[in-house]
Amino acid sequence: MPDQIVFLAHCFLNPQAKIQGSPDIADLCEKILSMLGEHKCGIIQLPCPELLHGGLSRWGQTRSQYDSVFFRRHCENLAETIVDQAEEYRQHQIPIGPIIGVEGSPSCGVNLTCDGPWGGELSENDHLLYKIRAVKLVPRRGVFMEVLQSCLGRRSITLDEIGIVESDPEESLHKLQVYLSKVKLQGGKKYE
Ligand code: SF4
Repeated sequence: MPDQIVFLAHCFLNPQAKIQGSPDIADLCEKILSMLGEHKCGIIQLPCPELLHGGLSRWGQTRSQYDSVFFRRHCENLAETIVDQAEEYRQHQIPIGPIIGVEGSPSCGVNLTCDGPWGGELSENDHLLYKIRAVKLVPRRGVFMEVLQSCLGRRSITLDEIGIVESDPEESLHKLQVYLSKVKLQGGKKYE
């Protein structure tokens, strides 16, 4: 039986959900899954909010573009079943967490998300390249992770978060390893 249940960003189990043309993360996914397996973690795969909103042909977008009442409501609907599961495991004293997010994602970042003045007409825009290059990483949660945490908070559930930096994952993988080992030593994360 799993020692604890983690909540894993969708694309670490299914990289096909990513925006077309994204860097290949197969190797990283394998490392994450093998670490979770070693630590006997059960895995709840979070939904991919962008795939379920814009499909596979979506453009890459920034946090501000996703930060609308409509996308937030979409995220709330997706979060509901995740929060229900978290509550059920908690009621049965099964350790839950962390949420494993994707740093830099406008939806699934937990410490870092990407933002910039994107939006508007593409074909007639003389400043398009300037706009594209103005995107930057900012220290905030992505929209889905923000909504998910707020839905968990309404049920008084607090889950730790660990963000994986896909372009340079060693440090974040180390953090995850240390976290899981510590939880194991403590005999599972305790609830307040
Ligand atoms: S929205 Fe989240 S789950 Fe979907 S591809 Fe982006 S980072 Fe992965």
